[in-house]
Order: sequence, then structure tokens, then C-alpha cells
Amino acid sequence: MKIIHRIVFRPDKTQRRVLQEIGIPVPPNEDLPVFEFDEEHEKLISLKPYIDKWQLVDNVRTEFTKKELDAASFLRWFPLWMNGYPMPDDDFGYIGTTFQKQGYCEVCGSGLVQQSSFRLRKAPNWGSKKIFGLNWVYDEVFVRKDVYETVFKKYGIESMPVLLYKKDVIIEDTVQLIIPTTDAYSNLEEQPYEICKTCGMKRYNPKTKGFFPSFKDSVTGLHLFKGREWFGSGAMSYKQIFVSQELRQEMIKYQIKSDFDPVNQ
Ligand SMILES: [Zn+2]
Repeated sequence: MKIIHRIVFRPDKTQRRVLQEIGIPVPPNEDLPVFEFDEEHEKLISLKPYIDKWQLVDNVRTEFTKKELDAASFLRWFPLWMNGYPMPDDDFGYIGTTFQKQGYCEVCGSGLVQQSSFRLRKAPNWGSKKIFGLNWVYDEVFVRKDVYETVFKKYGIESMPVLLYKKDVIIEDTVQLIIPTTDAYSNLEEQPYEICKTCGMKRYNPKTKGFFPSFKDSVTGLHLFKGREWFGSGAMSYKQIFVSQELRQEMIKYQIKSDFDPVNQ
């Protein structure tokens, strides 16, 4: 496992000088340098006080070894292709059409219950791609229909149609996976959280570092499911999506490109 910090910003003259002094010179013609360091790298340790002082965004991600990925019984799952926005996107109009407005908190974005199909601005331009996610909706996955039939259906995973916005006709080659929520809690005692002042919902900060914590209870019979807890920041809340190792191997076999983080055993 490698924990990587990625920092992107436009350094001014003073900042360039400081970076030079701590051994991270920026070429003069480089306006928007990208810095990536391993967590243990001495340059990151030198840079750390300035990340705080200059209030830079430090994006942390974890790269796992094949051995770590292959050993996990369950993995957190992310589609790589973010294919646009749920429609209508004006003033989050999809909330109230695709989702019930009742129970939804406008401050933290939690409590959405789907009542109808998603609408897309246009039919997906699949190319060689097989799955996608939508911006703003981080806990739903859309799949090419033939891929659903071949890979997902045999695990008892259900699907629902996706519609073309305005025309409200079914997009024939695309389905949304119906992802049930598990009853099992995760061991999130160490994970920072906040309580929404408006709705009282407990929401965990996005988890980007290391293995995802183990489940408190055993998860049986599910190959694709959402975790019980809410995560997020700002006005977006979402649940984590998990897959079994068996389903991950099946996806690899069918060259479905996606990202996985192992769940601790
Ligand atoms: Zn809230």
C-alpha cells in the first residue's frame, strides 16, 4: 500500500522561493505545478507546514498492491467514467423527479430516496467503456445492458431502465444497477464525522487513506451492496458501494475498468 499526497496550486514569487529553499524547485515556465509525494517522503514532511500555512488542498489517495486487492473478501467500488450529470441539472431539478424531495436535507444532501428512473442528457457514448457514474450521485452505477446481462444478473443483482431527458424514452443499451443497502455497520470509530445541524444526520468525512474499515457484522449472500453509513462533505452525501471479491474477479475477466479499495478483514 502506498499513500500518495497530490497538491496542485499556482505558486506566487514568494512561494516559489520557499519551494526552492526546501528542495522542490518549480520551473519558471510552470504555472500550475503538480506535486505528488509518498506519505513518508522527506520533501512532503518539509512541505507540510506550508500546506497548512498556505491553505493548500492536499488530496490523499491510496494505491494498493495486487496482493492486497486480491486478498480482500470485499472491496469498495468506484466507476472511473463520470458521464455527466443527472437531468434536469438546473437547480438540482433531478431531486423531486428521480428522487423524492420528502426526507431530503438541502444542507447536507442526505435522505434521498429514489422514486423514478434517472434521466440523461444524451445516450451514453459507450465506446469500449462498460460502466459509468454520474456527478453529484456517488452511490449509483450505470452499466451497458449486455454487460449487465453477462456479468451482474447471475448474482441476483436487479436493474432498472434509464431515460433520455425530455423525451422520457428508455435508453435501450443502458441500465442502472439496483444496489441494496446492507444491515451491517462498519468499524468507523476512528473515522472523523460531523452531525448536520439541520437534520441531525451523522455523516463521516470521505475516507481516502488506507484500507476501508472492516464490517462489524458478517455480510452474507450479497455481491453488490451499499454500506449503512452516510459519507460526504458540503451539500453532497452518499453511501459507499461495495462488491465481493468474486464479483471483482468477474469484472476483471470482462475488462470492466473500475477502481477498488480493499475492506479490512
Ligand atoms: Zn442534513
